[in-house]
Amino acid sequence: MKTLRLKPGKERSMQRRHPWVFESAIARGGADSGETVRVESHDGAFLAWAAFSPTSKIRARAWSFVETQRIDAAFLASVCERAVRARGLFDLQSDGVRLVHGEADGLPGLIVDRYGDTLVAQFLSAGVERWKDALADALLKATGLTKLYERSDASGREREGLKPVTGWLRGEGTTEMTIREHDWKLSLDIATGHKTGFYLDQRDSRQRFAELAKHRRFRRVLNCFCYTGGFTVAALAGLKAAGALDGAELVSVDSSQPALNFARANIALNGFGGEGSGVKTEFLDANVNTVLREFIDQGRTFDAIVLDPPKFAPTVAHAERAARAYKDINRLALKILEPGGVLLTFSCSGGISADLFHKIVASAGLDANVDGYISERLGAAPDHPMTIEFPEGEYLKGLVVVRKPA
Ligand code: SAH
Repeated sequence: MKTLRLKPGKERSMQRRHPWVFESAIARGGADSGETVRVESHDGAFLAWAAFSPTSKIRARAWSFVETQRIDAAFLASVCERAVRARGLFDLQSDGVRLVHGEADGLPGLIVDRYGDTLVAQFLSAGVERWKDALADALLKATGLTKLYERSDASGREREGLKPVTGWLRGEGTTEMTIREHDWKLSLDIATGHKTGFYLDQRDSRQRFAELAKHRRFRRVLNCFCYTGGFTVAALAGLKAAGALDGAELVSVDSSQPALNFARANIALNGFGGEGSGVKTEFLDANVNTVLREFIDQGRTFDAIVLDPPKFAPTVAHAERAARAYKDINRLALKILEPGGVLLTFSCSGGISADLFHKIVASAGLDANVDGYISERLGAAPDHPMTIEFPEGEYLKGLVVVRKPA
């Protein structure tokens, strides 16, 4: 059995069940990539069983804080089974579900999403890489499914000293599929899409946008960073429920052409838009920053805007530059928001706290000279849970800003 001995005082975070051991906390010890180590305090007291990552700054990630626990395939299978069972606690209204959300589910570095009858997994740490086969079998057993596609091509793999890997790990089939979410359908490709194929974490915010569209009967909607058009489809579903599709205009902007192709297809898939529908949809393959500036110049305004940019600040070290970028797009968007209009604005940067994001949006409002209410806070859907012990798990935060009526 290999051990990791921590420096004096460095045991505190693990005593509070935080799952990470940083390189700087270690006095001595080591192991092979992904191998299980006994983490102990400076005086040899047991802290956790953890997976060793020889190249990462996060040098070990805890599997268990129970000294008598054996870390083996049966243990990992029980953790997978519990994660899958936990999803039954939430009313998710979708057949696209995050089944395993890394640290929050006791499986550091493992992401598993279910799209219909197919699982898509990302093995992003040395520990889960080493146990890949056992985990794949356990996940299929826990779900009763047969197909698992691997999307271990996220940048975090590099830090763990692991190469990108993609392809069918168990079974095979089509990688293009359609899921149901709330009252609409969405098509995606698990092989070529972002992350595991789709942004399941925004599910409930899309639903909220649909409700707002229904209540407010939006006429002009701007969906920035639209990816495959989820928020656009949601707005259309809300307008349809209100009988307010006729005359609505929806602009969707993204810098990825393949994503926009899916966005177009998703509008059609739900029977919205098209000839004679009374709805005007526009898809712009462009930089959001440029588009917002053009709309300001043209005096083009909207009564609903979504800003859901990619991660500008992966860590706190990037926070300052990212804060400026967030402020910029929010300031520009607020300038073209009609009085009484609604802005849904998000940050999925772990390096930007909810508090800082609030301040950024407030100062964007000041600069744009726009008076608004923050009417709601939004976050990741409940199948992307946070735990009490792991505050880093809170990455996605959103605000609903309502511009005060004229
Ligand atoms: N709202 C989406 C997810 C957005 S992900 C949903 O609900 O599914 C962020 C998107 O921003 C990606 O599709 C990416 O292609 C796009 N993107 C990144 N930088 C961009 C830029 N500068 N201008 C336009 N789109 C950008």
